[in-house]
Amino acid sequence: MREGDGHWTQEAGRRIGVRVADCVPVLLAGLVHGKPWVAALHAGWRGTASGILRRGIGLYAELGGNRNELYFAFGPCIQSCHFEVGPEVIELAMRDPAWRDDLATAGPSGKPRLDLHGLLGAQAEEMGLDPKKDGSVKLCTLCEQQRFYSHRGGDSGRQWGWAEILGGCGRQPFHTELKSIDRNSASERHHSTEIGTSVV
Ligand SMILES: [Zn+2]
Repeated sequence: MREGDGHWTQEAGRRIGVRVADCVPVLLAGLVHGKPWVAALHAGWRGTASGILRRGIGLYAELGGNRNELYFAFGPCIQSCHFEVGPEVIELAMRDPAWRDDLATAGPSGKPRLDLHGLLGAQAEEMGLDPKKDGSVKLCTLCEQQRFYSHRGGDSGRQWGWAEILGGCGRQPFHTELKSIDRNSASERHHSTEIGTSVV
């Protein structure tokens, strides 16, 4: 999977996902003409700054979805506590119309640090998404390296961000989860975002 990629589906039972290890797994869930629609996007700094979330939301709206009814979640990624970047990254991110100066902070080495969740959240708000429908899991993959793979932490493994539409009686129409493999025992761990569960 390349950075900046994404998938969407309206097919029940078809699980879609993105593999990440510091980049942000972005999950979207909403209704398009009454039918569930889910998307999974891979957003690193380049994808975030070049508008992968904007494209995902734009596509949902083009298909007929109502933006303020879209549920969204940004999964664990390298957070601003650890995400040191070059000035060219900040320059690119600053071109985004939703940019705010507090999204970049100076790290101890003097290099800037970028808040990827913050930038995605600002874009979501500017695009008309409802902050009450935000199910983000704001954990840092490098701080929590026992639970998640971190590329900057030297890991070659990846975790998945999944989205799936579940059909059938008594079940919620959307089910999305972030899943990682436990580093020590290879057992599966779930970091559920539960987005879209109030949509029936
Ligand atoms: Zn951290």
